[in-house]
Amino acid sequence: MNRRSLLKGGLLAGISMPFVGLNEVIAKPIGGVKKAKNIIMMVSDGMSTGTLNMADLYANRTFGIGSKWLGLYRDKKAVRALMDTASASSMVTDSAAASSSWGGGIRVRNGSLNVGMKGEKPQPILQKFKENGKKVGCVTTVPITHATPAGFCVNIDDRDGQALIADMYLDLKFDVMMGGGSKYFGSKRKNGSILPKYLTQGFRVAENRIEILTLDKTKPVLGLFAEDGLPYEVDRKNDPELMKTVPSISEMTMKAIELMKDHKNGFALQVEAGKVDWAAHSNDVAGLIFDQLAFDEAVGKVIEFAEKDGETLVIITTDHGNSNPGLFYADEADKKFDSLQSFKHSNTWLLNQLNQSLSEQKITDIIRESQGLEMKLEDVKSLVAHFKDIVPGQLYNESNLPFYEYGKIMSKYTDVQWAGMNHTGDYVELTMFGPGSERLNPFIKNYELHNFMLSAAEMPAHFLVKA
Ligand SMILES: [Zn+2]
Repeated sequence: MNRRSLLKGGLLAGISMPFVGLNEVIAKPIGGVKKAKNIIMMVSDGMSTGTLNMADLYANRTFGIGSKWLGLYRDKKAVRALMDTASASSMVTDSAAASSSWGGGIRVRNGSLNVGMKGEKPQPILQKFKENGKKVGCVTTVPITHATPAGFCVNIDDRDGQALIADMYLDLKFDVMMGGGSKYFGSKRKNGSILPKYLTQGFRVAENRIEILTLDKTKPVLGLFAEDGLPYEVDRKNDPELMKTVPSISEMTMKAIELMKDHKNGFALQVEAGKVDWAAHSNDVAGLIFDQLAFDEAVGKVIEFAEKDGETLVIITTDHGNSNPGLFYADEADKKFDSLQSFKHSNTWLLNQLNQSLSEQKITDIIRESQGLEMKLEDVKSLVAHFKDIVPGQLYNESNLPFYEYGKIMSKYTDVQWAGMNHTGDYVELTMFGPGSERLNPFIKNYELHNFMLSAAEMPAHFLVKA
C-alpha cells in the first residue's frame, strides 16, 4: 500500500492509522553506528558543482544512468553536507592549505603544508593512523608529492618543495603511495635519484601499469606512473600504449585497497583526482569531464567495496571549486553538449600538436580527428593568431598554450562555459557513506573533518586537535 492509498483508507475508515511505511524510511539510520575500521577519503580536486553536475548529465545521456556519486543520493544511500573551504590566509584556498585543514586539523596559509600561522606543525593524519597501527596510503593522478596527498603526510612550509617531500616519504615508509611525479624521485633531481634508497629501505617501486598487478602486501609500494601528472583520461583511453602502461585512478585505488584491506587494524587511504583541477585551470572541457567520470568510476568501486566490508567510512568531496564551468542556455544546448561524446583528446593534448607552421586546413583536420568537430575557419584563424609567440620546441611549456582562447572557442561548440581560470571560494559538496556518516552535520568547515575522521575511527583522544 502506498502512502496515498494509506491516507485515503485511513480517512475513509475514520480511524487513525500509523504511517508505518513512512516512519521506516525516515527513521532508518544511514550507515551504521559502529566504529569505522577503515577510512577512504576521495577528493576530486578543484571540482566545482558544475563539474559534478555535468559528469552526471553526460553519464545520463550517454549511458542512460547517472554518475555513481549522485546515485548515492538518488538511492538514499549517503548523507551530504556543504563544506566551507577557506584557508587561514584567504576565503579562496589553494590545494595545500585545503588538504592541510583535513590532514592537520588547522587552517594554514595558502602554499603551506601543515605549518600554521604561528609555526605550529600539527601531526598529519596518516602519521597518526600509522602510529596507531593502521596501514596508510595515497593515490593520485598528479605527482604523489603534490599538495593534496602531501597534506595528509608531511609538514613543510612550501608546497613547491616536491623533491624534499619525496625525501620525507622515504622516512615515513607509508604502505601505498601511487601516482605521478617520478621527476621528484629520479635522476633529474638536483642531488640525484633517491630511488636506490627506497629500494634499500624495502620498498617495491612500480613504474608501469603491468607491475601493479604483481604487487603484493609484503612490502611498502611506491608507484610512479608519469614524470609529472598522469595523462588525462580522455587521452589515455584513446591511446593503446598509454592504456597498457598507465593505470586508471580506479585501478590504482582498488589495488591500494587490496594491499591494505586485510590488515587487522584497518587502513586509511586518500584518493585524489588531481587533474580535474588542472583541466579546470586550463578550461579544458574534455579533460575535465572525462577525468571526473574516471573518478566517478573509482567512487562506484570504492562504494561496492565499502558496502560489502561494512566497516569502511567513505568520504567523497573536493577541496575547492575551480573556474565554475556549466552548461548554459543556448540553441541546441543538448546537441552541443552531446558533441563531447565524440572527443578523443583533451584540449591540452590538441594544443600540444599545433603550431603556427601548420596550415589552417591541417589544423581543421586535427581538430576533427581528435575532437570530432567541424571547426569554422574564423575560429581556426583566431586560434592560430594566439600561437604567434610560440615556436616549435617550446610547445611543451604548457603555460604558453592558448588555453583561455581555445576554451572560449570550444564553448561555442559544446555550450560549456567557464567563469574564470582559477579556484573559487564556493562552499562544496561533501558526501559520506558508512559507519560514522550519521554524525555529519549539514554544514561544516574543512578543518573539522580532521577530528571527524579520527572520532569515526575511535582513535585515542590524544590524537584529536584541540579547538
Ligand atoms: Zn585543489
